[in-house]
Amino acid sequence: MTSSSSAFSAPSIAERVAEVRARIDAACHAAGRDPADVILTAVSKTQAPEAIDAILATGQRIFGENRVQEAQGRWADRRGGAQGLELRLIGPLQTNKAEDAVALFDVMETLDREKLARALAKAGEKRGRSPRVLVQVNTGAEDQKAGVLPDAADALIAAARDTYRLTVEGLMCIPPADQDAEPHFQMLRDMAERNGLSVLSMGMSGDYETAIRCGATHVRVGTALFGERNRPETPSSS
Ligand SMILES: *Cc1c(COP(=O)(O)O)cnc(C)c1O
Repeated sequence: MTSSSSAFSAPSIAERVAEVRARIDAACHAAGRDPADVILTAVSKTQAPEAIDAILATGQRIFGENRVQEAQGRWADRRGGAQGLELRLIGPLQTNKAEDAVALFDVMETLDREKLARALAKAGEKRGRSPRVLVQVNTGAEDQKAGVLPDAADALIAAARDTYRLTVEGLMCIPPADQDAEPHFQMLRDMAERNGLSVLSMGMSGDYETAIRCGATHVRVGTALFGERNRPETPSSS
């Protein structure tokens, strides 16, 4: 390990946050957009408590997590302390975890099937409020990837709104890792426009500037803020 005084030390989380925020601002200016219209979601999955404390100290309050149980462990106790905290579920959700998810998360970004819409509606009824959701679209129609297929998205959006009375705020996508992300971001934006949706959650560490150019309102950034994750990401089952 290098000491913190070493010229070769890794940037601190505060430095990384400042760098990402500066790049978001620059991408907004280049695209003629107001930086206030692009929200940075810090993806805190797998991060250690010290890393969470460090990023909270920078004022960051919006976080993305991909597993319900892991997020409960990380955030249940911090909820009271950090004012203005917003937690967003960005990983696949099983119907039997819908109640836990609605209890912990402010927004579920991964609605991708009618059965889950029904489970979220039921969970919302118990809590007396309509869950806020994004519909995840599998823009690359990848077999292994979660998300509704593009040609089924409009119907799912309509069902989520009209049948299940969910608060559908927008769309989310994760483009195929081996392709240019831009056409996928454009597809998502077109889909949001024709459905009258304003939120576009797209762009990660490698492509958030492209996503901002394509209209992203929420970028989900992990590695660029925290450094490499502590342990390999396990396939999400929650
Ligand atoms: C892990 C993850 C991210 C963040 O990825 P980085 O490349 O580390 O920025 C964004 N979105 C989703 C859905 C993720 O699972």
